[in-house]
Amino acid sequence: MEELVALCKRRGFIFQSSEIYGGLQGLYDYGPLGVELKNNLKQSWWASMVYDRDDIEGLDASILTHPDVLKYSGHEDTFSDPMVDCKSCGERFREDQVPDYCKEEDLTEPRQFNLMFKTNVGPVDDGTNFAYLRPETAQQIFINFKNIVDSTSRTLPFGIAQIGKAFRNEITPRNFIFRVREFEQMELEFFVHPGSDEDWHKKWVENRLNWWERQGVPKEKLELLHVTGEDLAHYSKATVDIMYKFPHGLEELEGIANRTDFDLGSHSKNQEDLGITAKTAKNNSSNAKLAIQDLKTNKWVVPYVIEPSAGVERGFLAILNESYKVEKLENGKERVVLSLKPHLSPIKAAIIPLKKNNVELVDLAYKLKNKLQNLRLGRVVVENTGNIGKSYRKHDEIGTPLCITVDFDTIEKDKVTVRDRDTMDQKTINVSEASDFFRDYLIG
Ligand code: ATP
Repeated sequence: MEELVALCKRRGFIFQSSEIYGGLQGLYDYGPLGVELKNNLKQSWWASMVYDRDDIEGLDASILTHPDVLKYSGHEDTFSDPMVDCKSCGERFREDQVPDYCKEEDLTEPRQFNLMFKTNVGPVDDGTNFAYLRPETAQQIFINFKNIVDSTSRTLPFGIAQIGKAFRNEITPRNFIFRVREFEQMELEFFVHPGSDEDWHKKWVENRLNWWERQGVPKEKLELLHVTGEDLAHYSKATVDIMYKFPHGLEELEGIANRTDFDLGSHSKNQEDLGITAKTAKNNSSNAKLAIQDLKTNKWVVPYVIEPSAGVERGFLAILNESYKVEKLENGKERVVLSLKPHLSPIKAAIIPLKKNNVELVDLAYKLKNKLQNLRLGRVVVENTGNIGKSYRKHDEIGTPLCITVDFDTIEKDKVTVRDRDTMDQKTINVSEASDFFRDYLIG
């Protein structure tokens, strides 16, 4: 973990938030490379959900959330962690995360601590006009169910996908970006006919494992945990957690829950007419019926929902951990390489002029950069340090898959040298072929 944290800071992936004022715990800022990797990961998820399939629509809802949403969802009452204080070290921990160095007799009785952040809305700050910063993106999907069905004419089964920030006042944020107070979720709510939910649950678990594999986290590194007993959320019929061996231990990367008709049922008016199977609190505040009409029977159905919910930061950390390698080279030296999947690499290609001060070479490098950049396949940079070896080392370390050197053969014969990050093989191609080569490499 320390090596990853150091690399992230040194190269500009991740910084501690508000660092110059001493930092704020559990918050991080994503630097020039971090923002690219994060965007690429989110884009990959979005494409696999919304573009590659024909049964999912997207949403980007507000972060500030009406208190009633989180009242009827159950978050006001149950979204809390039991915390204990250690009288010896003076620190506060989640009950299941007390470190070994605290003795049982020094711990207080557990107390419930609600994890939601509240903020004042409007000019009067008297505690009555408040909203929550959403603790998950899911609830906004449920409360937009009718809007989306009405505007798209969707029928079951179909899903709504959303990527966005979520906030939790975690008692003990820790392990770098694994447990933080502000993070991003990639959540899908997939609505199905009651009765087909168990099949869809299995399909989504398989689908998600395959997706993680395509991001460079192979199946053999993941374990499925079937959540049972007290650990199963009150709304869930079944939950499968995808567990990954993070540098600090085996923990949840993504959860895939069968949330039944609990959420749509909870946010509906006239619940008694809807045949809801889940136990929901009576709702006199909602003005909507979150149900869908079955085209065959004309009956109103409250769909069951399968929810794959993944954290962007946890994905980021798993991907970094999988791709980070220290390799011994034939000359006895070592190199650090991030063997990221090319679609996730922050920089897709670095164009390196052989000599820093040769105007002709540098001009040609920028010309090639602009040509490749215009393909809109991701970021391309000119690396003008005048030191090819140093440039290779830098781009290995940040996961750039291709380095393209512009030298005197480029001027005389229109040729450039392409070096592959993983194999370190070099080959010569014509500048006129560079766009096709680059496109084929990245898209296949
Ligand atoms: P945990 O048990 O680790 O606190 P959770 O079961 O509460 O996680 P969910 O509510 O299922 O998490 O949230 C879905 C996903 O959101 C998680 O799988 C994780 O990837 C991400 N996530 C949740 N809490 C955090 C956090 N504090 N920091 C970073 N990511 C988080």
